Amino acid sequence: MGKGFFEVPIAVNEPVKDYAPGSPERAAVSAAYKKMYNSKVEVPLYINGKNVKTGATATMSPPHDHKHSLGVYHNAKKKNITDAISSALKAREKWAATPWEQRAAIFLRAAELIAGPYRAKINAATMLAQSKNIYQAEIDASCELIDFLRFNVQYMTEIYAEQPESTSSVWNRLEYRPLEGFVYAITPFNFTAIAANLPASAALMGNVVIWKPSDSQIYSAKVILDIFKEAGVPAGVINMVMGDPVMITDTVLTSPDFSGVHFTGSTHVFKDIWQKIGTNIHNYKTYPRIVGETGGKDFIVAHKSSDPKQVATAIIRGSFEFQGQKCSAASRCYVSKSIWKAVEKQLLKDLSSMTMGSPEDMSNFITAVIHEGSFDKLAKYINNAKKDKKAKIIAGGKCDKKEGYFIEPTVIVTEDPKYTTMCTELFGPVVTIYVFEDKNWEKTLQLVDETSEYALTGAVFSEDRYALEVAIKALENAAGNFYVNDKPTGAVVGQQPFGGARASGTNDKAGSKLNLYRWISPRMIKETFVSPTDYRYPFLG
Ligand code: NAD
Repeated sequence: MGKGFFEVPIAVNEPVKDYAPGSPERAAVSAAYKKMYNSKVEVPLYINGKNVKTGATATMSPPHDHKHSLGVYHNAKKKNITDAISSALKAREKWAATPWEQRAAIFLRAAELIAGPYRAKINAATMLAQSKNIYQAEIDASCELIDFLRFNVQYMTEIYAEQPESTSSVWNRLEYRPLEGFVYAITPFNFTAIAANLPASAALMGNVVIWKPSDSQIYSAKVILDIFKEAGVPAGVINMVMGDPVMITDTVLTSPDFSGVHFTGSTHVFKDIWQKIGTNIHNYKTYPRIVGETGGKDFIVAHKSSDPKQVATAIIRGSFEFQGQKCSAASRCYVSKSIWKAVEKQLLKDLSSMTMGSPEDMSNFITAVIHEGSFDKLAKYINNAKKDKKAKIIAGGKCDKKEGYFIEPTVIVTEDPKYTTMCTELFGPVVTIYVFEDKNWEKTLQLVDETSEYALTGAVFSEDRYALEVAIKALENAAGNFYVNDKPTGAVVGQQPFGGARASGTNDKAGSKLNLYRWISPRMIKETFVSPTDYRYPFLG
């Protein structure tokens, strides 16, 4: 920036549209859904601004309608990955030198394209690819993604404004360089917003990126890519490659120019990647940044003083929205005995009113889980619970994959607080409840803290301030996002920066300045206006 200290528009959260029957936004999404359902797309790799077709194709299908084809995507070969790396490094020469206001303008433009002309399309694509109901698609693919783009631009300028003290004789300047090399973004299926944000946040800070989306999200990833192109992301800055994750990752991680990984996904995959980076450490030109947001076994704990209706609603929304496939979804709940009957009554009543089916029918709260692997795993745990003496299924339990991967929202009650579904991340519409004696509040909090390897989100319900205070202290390290009298899902960019520690990730808080710091390597420039001409200090006499 040579000719002005520009101010960016103040970031505001994108208002969530309600998609009520008869609303224009509902009609627009329905029309986009139908049109997209009835056409076929082909998704090539995107390398150096060019579409690359390898001929090794795979079919994309909606999880709720898995016999239907939405089109195909192309799988990369090793040579495509090395090409993507070399073109990213070539693109870096110009991109890293581009004034920040140009980068800001590109991503602010992308936000406006999503808020306006692409809104119905990116929501419909997310409904088709990931089987989100319209509300879940709107809060993810439109609102959260717009927020990531707008707030990150503002945070970038706030970081650039952080400068050291100077004196009249010395001017100290901090320059926030991008990393030297390229960044590898590996994204999960469950949020279109995360898929876009992981490559975009690094690119915004001046980095070039190799982006590998999840196989199950490629259909909506293509819409993201089209938006980035239209917004003006130059060729080679964000390259999208699909295919065998192990081959792609191994190829990327052996490049000496690999300078950072921006990952969201499961814990074991992230740990493997970390290990491979360790193995390759002597080959890199710079120490790579390792940022990963991973699994969760998120909890709700309800004190005897809490309102049973509020607790039941938090369990329903927190556990079953998007079929429990949010990293923040509640999947283990601890409810005080004296309120349990009232909580249970409300839970069963609410669940009996919930319908399940295609997101095209917007009255459905529950749609399908992402793929057959996930369906089979969930069905196995549910069937085991049906047979197990330690568990009782009080709602749901039916699984059917004839047309789509449908699993009923399932509530398991157990008397064993270490029962397998209280400890393992299942990533589906299954919640397990342990009822504790009223007098055991502190013991139960200790149990919550010790039961899982994760520490992503958690919620405590209590009207008793003393009990609350005890919980806040006891669970200090049990969650990176902690909720009081609220469900543990639905973090909003700019309001609740998101991420957890322990086995849940590096806690670099997506949607905050903390995350952007990971994609820069500051250079300190000290300029002395009149340099000394004699080596002797006064103390030498
Ligand atoms: P996943 O780990 O199966 O896949 C994530 C990405 O890693 C995909 O792009 C996938 O292709 C790739 N991948 C898979 N195996 C790989 C390998 N061996 N080497 C390199 N890359 C590999 O996760 P998913 O099913 O897409 O997403 C669900 C998981 O993500 C859950 O565990 C959830 O908790 C987590 N998640 C966490 C957050 C968070 O902020 N903490 C947010 C969303 C999702």
